[in-house]
Amino acid sequence: MFTGLLITKDDSGYRTQLTQIDPAVLSEGDVTVAVEYSTLNYKDGLAITGKSPVVRRFPMVPGIDFSGTVLSSTHPAWKAGDAVILNGWGVGETHTGGLAEQARVKGDWLIARPAAFSARQAMAIGTAGYTAMLCVMALERHGVKPADGEILVTGANGGVGSVAIILLAQLGYRVVASTGRPEAAEHLKALGAAEVVDRATLSAPGKPLGKERWAGVVDTVGSHTLANACATTRYGGVVTACGLAGGMDLPASVAPFILRGVTLAGIDSVMAPLALRQQAWARLATDLDPAKLEAVTNEITLGEAIDHASTLLAGQVAGRLVVNVRSH
Ligand code: NDP
Repeated sequence: MFTGLLITKDDSGYRTQLTQIDPAVLSEGDVTVAVEYSTLNYKDGLAITGKSPVVRRFPMVPGIDFSGTVLSSTHPAWKAGDAVILNGWGVGETHTGGLAEQARVKGDWLIARPAAFSARQAMAIGTAGYTAMLCVMALERHGVKPADGEILVTGANGGVGSVAIILLAQLGYRVVASTGRPEAAEHLKALGAAEVVDRATLSAPGKPLGKERWAGVVDTVGSHTLANACATTRYGGVVTACGLAGGMDLPASVAPFILRGVTLAGIDSVMAPLALRQQAWARLATDLDPAKLEAVTNEITLGEAIDHASTLLAGQVAGRLVVNVRSH
C-alpha cells in the first residue's frame, strides 16, 4: 500500500480523499515509478473538485504529470533508478496519475528528466510550463521574431502565463501581460513583462477587427478574450490558443484570418508526439531561468492539494503549485 489521492464516484457522490492505495488500483503499464513531485494544473483542479467531467474512470488517482524514479520496468528503454517525467497521455483522466507515491504507466509515455532539472524543478515547470514552451515554439515555427512586435500573454498570473512571460522575455520579445489581478503588476514585470493590462480590456464582446497591435499571442483564456486577441493581432501575426480559463466558446469572426492573414495555432500538450515533447523539454533546459521559475513556485503537500484545487479554479493561485508527493 502507498499514500495518494483517490477520486471515487458512487451513490454518495464525487469525493477526493488522501488515503492508502492498493497497487491493484493502478492502471496497466510496463513501468512503475516512485513519484517524487507532481503539480496542480488547471485540469487537476477540475478533476479533484469534479467541477468538469475530466475523470472518466473510477476510482482514479488524479495528477496529469509527475517526476520520479523508475522502480521496475519491462520496457526496453527504462530500468530501475532512471529519472523520468511524464506529461499528459490521459494520465489523471483515464489512466491513474501522479498525485500518489507510485504510478504505473506505459514506458512509451515517459521522457528522461533533463539533467538541468531536479525532480522538483521539473514539476515546478510541469504541464503548464511545458505547454508555455509549446506555445513559444509554435510562435517561432510560424516565423514570429522579437523585432516583429509585442506578444500578448493572457491569464498572466497562471501557470502557463507566468512561464510564457519568463520564456518570451528571456528570448527578447516585448511581452504585454493581461491579468485580472493588477495588484500583481510588479511581480509580472519582475518576470519580464514590459507592460501589464487589465484583462477586462479583452474579456467583453468585441468587434470583428480592432486596432492592430500584437505580433503574437499566447492565450490561456479562450472565449471573448481569444476572439479579441485575434481581432487585434497585426497583419500576418500568430495567435496560439491553449486554454479555456475564461470559457470554452470562441465567439469570433473570420475577419482576422481572411483580411489580415492571422494564424490561429492550436496547442495540445496531452497527445503531443514524443519528438515535440523532447524538443520542448530540451528548450526549457536552456531557455528557462531557474531563479525566475523558483519565484513563481510554491510547494504544497499531497493533502493540501485537495483544498488548493478549488483555490486554483477560483483564479486565486499565482504561478505554479508543486506537490511534494512524499510529504503528506
Ligand atoms: P491557472 O489556473 O494556473 O491559470 C489560469 C489563469 O487564467 C488565472 O491565473 C487567471 O490569471 C486567468 N483566469 C482565471 N479565470 C479567468 C476568467 N474567468 N477569465 C479570464 N481569465 C481568467 O491555469 P494554467 O495556467 O495551468 O492553465 C491555463 C489554461 O490552459 C487552462 O484553461 C488549462 O486547462 C489550459 N491548459 C491547456 C493545455 C493544453 O494542452 N492545451 C495544457 C495546460 C493547460 P489572472 O489572474 O492573471 O487574470
